[in-house]
Amino acid sequence: MKLSKQAFPSDSSHPYSSTVPQPDQQSALLLVDLQNDLFPGGALAVPEANSLIPLINAYIKHFSRQGWPILATRDWHPANHRSFTEQQGPWPAHGVQGSRGAQFHSDLVLPPGMMVISKGTDPKKDSTSGFDGTSLADRLEDLNVQTLYVLGLPTEHCVKHTVLDGCQRGLQVVLLTDATKRREPQQDGSPNALQEMTDAGAWLANSSDIGIPAIFH
Ligand code: ZN
Repeated sequence: MKLSKQAFPSDSSHPYSSTVPQPDQQSALLLVDLQNDLFPGGALAVPEANSLIPLINAYIKHFSRQGWPILATRDWHPANHRSFTEQQGPWPAHGVQGSRGAQFHSDLVLPPGMMVISKGTDPKKDSTSGFDGTSLADRLEDLNVQTLYVLGLPTEHCVKHTVLDGCQRGLQVVLLTDATKRREPQQDGSPNALQEMTDAGAWLANSSDIGIPAIFH
């Protein structure tokens, strides 16, 4: 009799790792908004986001070696987007189509053939989730993805909304906590983004939970 594929690495010592789904051919890696505007020097900079890049590249390498799909969302706003302060929106202009700020950070080693999902392209509508008004759900369905591994910026905003939407759409969603960062510090009494995501059914994992050595921490 053929043994079924081992679901979890046997050498794992992390107390939660047996509960975290391990990536397989029905998994995809989703990179959320790794654009210059979200890194130091950008319009919506996440402090110290650069420090995540080596680990993000390790995740990309891990998925790309196995031939598992990698997708990336990006804010891709027209210059008159409603979320911008000039239009009485909450944010300074960012992620403007064709601008340097909208480009992916140049230290990322992005795989050829990576699928890019643009969001917020309608001047009158903002999309904080990568699923909102985009083809992301269709792409994942076409690829037969059951489990989505999410990393990116910022944890409490676009990452959180993408994770919550993924859970609501029936996907297994794993947030890669060591490859996300908050833009604003957690305020006392304000909702805890990680808690909201686990309440919605998402798993929290770090690189060692899914078989990547923790040498980048
Ligand atoms: Zn935006």
